[in-house]
Amino acid sequence: MTDRSTAVIKIGTSSVTGSDGLPNATLLASLAQQIQNSASHIDVVVVSSGAVNAGWATIGKDQPRPSDSVVLQAVSAVGQQLLMRTWADAFAVQDRVVGQVLLAPHDFENRSQYLHARQTLGQLLTLGIVPIINENDAVADDEIRYGDNDRLAALVAHLVGAQRLLILTDTPGLLTADPRHDANASLIEVVTEIDASLAARAGGPSSVGLGGMSSKVQAAWMATWSGVETVIASATAPDVVHRFLEGLDAGGTTFTARERSLSARKLWIAFAVAAAATLVVDEGAAADIVADSSLLSVGISAVRGNALAGDPVEIVNEAGVLLAKGIVRFDVRDGHSVATSDGIVIHRDDLVILTSS
Ligand code: GLU
Repeated sequence: MTDRSTAVIKIGTSSVTGSDGLPNATLLASLAQQIQNSASHIDVVVVSSGAVNAGWATIGKDQPRPSDSVVLQAVSAVGQQLLMRTWADAFAVQDRVVGQVLLAPHDFENRSQYLHARQTLGQLLTLGIVPIINENDAVADDEIRYGDNDRLAALVAHLVGAQRLLILTDTPGLLTADPRHDANASLIEVVTEIDASLAARAGGPSSVGLGGMSSKVQAAWMATWSGVETVIASATAPDVVHRFLEGLDAGGTTFTARERSLSARKLWIAFAVAAAATLVVDEGAAADIVADSSLLSVGISAVRGNALAGDPVEIVNEAGVLLAKGIVRFDVRDGHSVATSDGIVIHRDDLVILTSS
């Protein structure tokens, strides 16, 4: 019996759709073939963007894409089925069946939803069906949805217990500078430590996709912290998927996985939800939380923004460096000190340290 492994392959809007905005059938056919070539020993879950772009291309009749999120969410319903049809055709040539799974942040927040999603994806793989995942753009709450699929792909990689994640995009990988502004930008081949500043330094979105390099690095951060090695590479590089799946050099940037991975809950706290407020902590509290203690009210020197009990917050030191994220046990209010009965504002079980050391 061979050892099977699982990989997640995410492909962004600017690669999935062609210049006409419609799904690029030729590219998807090539990706399906490459995935099928490794099917005897690797299960693949695909995370595919492109619904909004394909939807607008179908009904927009060459007009510029609107920014109104209500319109975009509605047209995604048109694009999503077109996208799935193209993926289904691409895999049908390989004699494989695809299944559509649409996920929303809620599915990662609610434990029973999370377990159901995991069970369904596992079952699809057992049945030999290729899951094609997208965010549930049409109905997800616009305020909280991911928007780009990069972070979703990282969460999916954790969800399905994948060992590796490939993020396919329209650049060769992570570059030393934004190539749109610096002609000398060169490829970074390996990244062993990711932190918030690397994610912030990477460039913003391209014209049709939403994520940009910054959200890809953020996704790589999430994935590698969950023990998933991540590669960001060009969707059009020859044999990129085949090379990635077979452990050959696929070009692009490899982010090595951390040995100690986070639990699903801590991963969610760290990366899946946006912080409602920021707590500034003094040096003593900073040292304590990094040493795995709970955050006490006495260590908080300032509160920026408002958060309700149960909300995620960011914790920074007095120099503004991000140290951790956590769930507050009490409401905290901008500019006010935090009064609690037992002094614990964030319990260590609800605290995730984000410094790389
Ligand atoms: N879920 C969005 C779509 O399918 C992703 C948009 C993007 O990241 O480009 O259109």
